[in-house]
Amino acid sequence: MHKTKTNSFFSKHYLCDKHNRVNTYLRISLTPYCNFNCLYCKPLKYRPYRNHNMNIKDVLTLCRWMISLGVEKIRFTGGEPLLFPNIVNVLEFSVSQGVETAITTNGFFLYKYINDIMRLRIKVNISLDTLDRKKFKKISGVNGFDRVWESINRFMDQDYPLKLNVVVMKGINDDEIINFVNLTRDWKIHVRFIEFMPFNGNRWGWNYCMKGSEILDIIRKHFPIEKLNDEPHSVARSYRVSGFAGTFAVITSVSEPFCHTCNRLRISSTGKLLYCLFDDVGIDLLPFIRTNDFERFKRTVGAYVRRKPLMRAGKELNPEITSFAMTELGG
Ligand code: SAM
Ligand code: SF4
Repeated sequence: MHKTKTNSFFSKHYLCDKHNRVNTYLRISLTPYCNFNCLYCKPLKYRPYRNHNMNIKDVLTLCRWMISLGVEKIRFTGGEPLLFPNIVNVLEFSVSQGVETAITTNGFFLYKYINDIMRLRIKVNISLDTLDRKKFKKISGVNGFDRVWESINRFMDQDYPLKLNVVVMKGINDDEIINFVNLTRDWKIHVRFIEFMPFNGNRWGWNYCMKGSEILDIIRKHFPIEKLNDEPHSVARSYRVSGFAGTFAVITSVSEPFCHTCNRLRISSTGKLLYCLFDDVGIDLLPFIRTNDFERFKRTVGAYVRRKPLMRAGKELNPEITSFAMTELGG
């Protein structure tokens, strides 16, 4: 067993790249599969008989070894991470290693796991792009609004901190921005409006992508808003409507990228280390994990991280910016 040392000077710097960013936040795509088929995403369709690329042993070893190199926060995502077998064991393990543990989910299966998630104090982001039952089916392909909404209400009843992710698409759900902000009136919830990003096969274009500045303009016309302080590596710019209990933010990954303060690394659902959402090469870590070769794992990770380019994996923004689907990369 390799010792976990989360805060030592050495391990923090082991994940430092050539632009002096210390990459201590790891996002792991547990599976490329999803039970939804959101318009802006391209998941592989989930079939119960399909194997996930990584098994639980791979995932736990990955977490343990990455933590030993200095990772301080892990977010489990996908595809739909709640489809991963033994997901509670994965979350429990991550928490037991002393790192901040988070999950991003479409919320459909949350009802099964809500007690475990609250017990472990996992940070939860739920993706919800509409408050309209019919539109929910149109966007996600699944008649699941009521089930997701019920879980959100259960969290709110317990005053559990919750973030909602809303991908804003022109002509699809931009008419609901104010309804989402209204949720923050009485609920201590954090709503994040995300710009629609290009990924393989999602037919991205500026005609659908609503900029963060446009979203803020709409909100300002309805409410007086105050800017809040953001954490140093935050990708979100946070605001509050004066007097409201909750908060909201815009995530401007397309119009104003925040690469210069990025502290993220990613593991794809196939076990590749990626330095960025737009890195479509990556480096395969599974051979080292499956042969229990920590020394080569460590050298490979260190060398790859040091090369992390300053912006968008060194590429220009365009609809073919990556050959991966969002679900393989872990959004
Ligand atoms: N299935 C889970 C979910 O939907 O929360 C986790 C995976 S999903 C890929 C992670 C996040 O990426 C979600 O909040 C989703 O809305 C966002 N996302 C997916 N495709 C996107 C795109 N093209 N542009 C911006 N955000 C996107
Ligand atoms: Fe599935 Fe999440 Fe992609 Fe929607 S955004 S299809 S829920 S992985």
